[in-house]
Amino acid sequence: MRYISTRGEAPALGFEDVLLTGLASDGGLYVPESLPHFSLEEIRSWRGLPYSELAFNVMYPFVDDAVPEDDFRKMLEETYAAFNHKAVAPLVQLDSNEWVMELFRGPTLAFKDFALQLLGRLLDYVLEKRNQHVVIMGATSGDTGSAAIEGCRRCKHVDIFILHPHERVSEVQRRQMTTVLGDNIHNIAVRGNFDDCQRMVKDSFGNQSFLGGKTQLAAVNSINWARIMAQIVYYFQASLALGGPDRSMAFSVPTGNFGDIFAGYLAKKMGLPISQLVIATNRNDILHRFMSGNRYEQRTLEHTLSPSMDIMVSSNFERLLFDLHGRNGEAIKTLLEDAAKGPVSIEDYRWRHARKLFDSDTVDDQATCDTIREIYEQNEYLLDPHTAIGVRAARNCRRDDKVPMITLGTAHPAKFPDAIAESGLTVKPVLPAHMADLFDREERYTVLDNNIAGVQEFIASHWKNA
Ligand SMILES: *Cc1c(COP(=O)(O)O)cnc(C)c1O
Repeated sequence: MRYISTRGEAPALGFEDVLLTGLASDGGLYVPESLPHFSLEEIRSWRGLPYSELAFNVMYPFVDDAVPEDDFRKMLEETYAAFNHKAVAPLVQLDSNEWVMELFRGPTLAFKDFALQLLGRLLDYVLEKRNQHVVIMGATSGDTGSAAIEGCRRCKHVDIFILHPHERVSEVQRRQMTTVLGDNIHNIAVRGNFDDCQRMVKDSFGNQSFLGGKTQLAAVNSINWARIMAQIVYYFQASLALGGPDRSMAFSVPTGNFGDIFAGYLAKKMGLPISQLVIATNRNDILHRFMSGNRYEQRTLEHTLSPSMDIMVSSNFERLLFDLHGRNGEAIKTLLEDAAKGPVSIEDYRWRHARKLFDSDTVDDQATCDTIREIYEQNEYLLDPHTAIGVRAARNCRRDDKVPMITLGTAHPAKFPDAIAESGLTVKPVLPAHMADLFDREERYTVLDNNIAGVQEFIASHWKNA
């Protein structure tokens, strides 16, 4: 399988290189040159398979000869055995034809584990083969760093440095990162804010001379193709569990960077009957505004009860725009360069096509809390605020009651106790057993000044072979 850039100028790469590359050299994102397509008969034959075997069938065409079949199977078994439910992505029924797919049964209780647990293993495999080492550097405002750290904890050829703003993340969030102890895991608390952290990461990628040429930086953010690939699988899993592919499904997806829902769009293109895909956003609703009015316009960031969806631009949306423009890289380059300067629109017929592919909705904090309370009162089932946005949007956008509506449950409610409290419920979400002692575990992190030279010096002197 070859991968090409959405901006048309960077060289095409194989899977291994795409794994190690973040942004393409022309500023674009890598996408497969062509997608595998599965017949209904083939999909039907996967009914009842364990999750890791289904994952193999869906993903192997993307990986291909980069990893031999048996090694890839083993990697998938190990990855999904670490989840705390045998079904890996179990479905919970909310109403007669309405479901939540629990994607928070992994080690850090968020759907990002599906991809990052696998990504860590894939990276280590490829680096071992190449006798190479990388340093992963990333910034987090709290919620997403832990999944990356967990994903890399067993990697022999990867050191990971995650920057978070000192005293500006919640204690649960900090402890989820800092209690993962390993020689290759480095948490840095920067005396600054999230933007300071992010700027340091960006500048370090731009000039890696501080590493002295002995290792290189790698990114594991949501633009990494392997992350999207791993998220396609659970759309197949949910469908097969509910009578697919002989009936079509609707999915509602709490959306930030457009990675998770883009995977649903790909599942459909690969042959899975999906009749509706709902983009569910919080008040940071650039995608909903685009879908409703063909105007793609950045606004200032708002802080909401669903922080993992607090984004100004959705980076993976570029991958959809590429398809909407007949995979014309030049057109995408112009469009996104313009979008960085001000609002843009696309040709009307292209936008109408996008509206056929997706529905969308925006859900504010009040409606999020109302939904958490309503579902708890109806079912004694607690939703986290991100999933609640998905459920609300699913109900608002639903077109056909006969089609199963599945909301992707992206986080465990115990990660966001404040939102549960704000919804007026007195019930307290409980951390699952494997995390119950989180507050008693040893923490390890280093506090550094808001100064890039100091942070780079720390990294240069603390990675494994430094
Ligand atoms: C990352 C995240 C999202 C958004 O997913 P995207 O792929 O960025 O659209 C939604 N909910 C939770 C809990 C997340 O961590």
